[in-house]
Amino acid sequence: MTIDKHAKHAARELAEREGISYTAARRQLTEQPAPASPAEPEDRFGGHEFEYEQHTDLFKCTECEAYEVVARDGDGPITRCPGLVGYGADTQRVYLLLTETQGLSYSQAAVLSTTIRSSGIGRAPRFSWRDGRLLIESAPSVVAELARRIHLLRATAEGRQVPVVASVEHLTAEAGLAVIAANRAAYVAEYGEPR
Ligand SMILES: [Zn+2]
Repeated sequence: MTIDKHAKHAARELAEREGISYTAARRQLTEQPAPASPAEPEDRFGGHEFEYEQHTDLFKCTECEAYEVVARDGDGPITRCPGLVGYGADTQRVYLLLTETQGLSYSQAAVLSTTIRSSGIGRAPRFSWRDGRLLIESAPSVVAELARRIHLLRATAEGRQVPVVASVEHLTAEAGLAVIAANRAAYVAEYGEPR
């Protein structure tokens, strides 16, 4: 087994055992230092989130759906992940800051980020949630449609239908990254540096 194959095998085992993504496992095993700030999410995976795909025996990004062998030129540089397929290769980012309706259960609130991810045009980045507010990344070309769908989301609270989200604030890329940085700082203050 080559070193590379060995590393991939070990990462797959770790990913299965810990229930984390393949890429997260590779990061853990190589003990890459965490990026200096969330504004610099660059790592040796170029922001891709590769998962093993059984029927092709290849690693495929869950975000842009590129195969690792295509994104990476041998062991050379990797092309930067362009983000969700639904962004239409638009590399610009914008953010929505959602305020959850008060009184929803934890599971009702948790469904929100899953629902948004399944829309294919938005996602909750790491450190996106704090104090009932959820930051969502999207692209300028699709953010209006995403906001429209979010406004339509309903949950049942005390026997009646209520909006899941009380308000939706549109943020620029800079403002969105500032929210992530603030959330990350709050996380570190409480729990220490994330692994
Ligand atoms: Zn990707």
